[in-house]
Amino acid sequence: MKILLATRNPGKVLEIGSILGQVGIEVVSLDDLPEPPPEVVEDGETFGENAAKKALAAARGSGMPSLADDSGLVVPALGGEPGVRSARYAGDEGNMEANMDLLLRKMAHLPERERLAHFICVLVLAAPDGRTWEASGRVDGLITFQRQGEGGFGYDPVFFYLPAERTFAQMGLEGKNQVSHRSRALRDFAEKWPEIKKELKKEQKRE
Ligand code: IMP
Repeated sequence: MKILLATRNPGKVLEIGSILGQVGIEVVSLDDLPEPPPEVVEDGETFGENAAKKALAAARGSGMPSLADDSGLVVPALGGEPGVRSARYAGDEGNMEANMDLLLRKMAHLPERERLAHFICVLVLAAPDGRTWEASGRVDGLITFQRQGEGGFGYDPVFFYLPAERTFAQMGLEGKNQVSHRSRALRDFAEKWPEIKKELKKEQKRE
């Protein structure tokens, strides 16, 4: 079965496509559509709400089952910040240097035992008729006192993954992808896929 990925990020299309290909899902991206659906404002209060908004807009606009993700960093000692505001924590969308600076500043007084953090990724598949299914993944770590490593993106240089004794920015793409919140969410989705597929087909038969 073909599903639409509600993203224009080529890295995500590759990563998601390779994992879901293993369970027989063919993915196409927004860039493959002749008329892409309008952009969605990610103003939800939870990762699930934002992912559902993106997936529903894509499914309704394209008539295809559509998958969207939303992810971010959660620090319990900061009441869950940066959370759904991970990409624009310091104000400007995507200014990761400023976002990391703000995070490190807010946490400067916290000892190691209070520096626990996790990345979360929520995936939502939406059918054109408005039904949705959710999968999620989480990875736990510690926020460092300063940046370590050059690789990765986003908060990777300050996210220390204990089992590897390195930050995500020091683990290389393959090492990170094996344990990341996104890969865990994708595996959760792949496990749920047989059931979701049955439900999608049931509705198609009724029409
Ligand atoms: P998105 O849901 O992929 O748009 O991610 C939202 C924001 O969360 C990104 O801009 C990053 O700041 C942060 N983020 C999500 N996943 C990761 C990751 O694997 N490493 C570092 N930062 C991440």
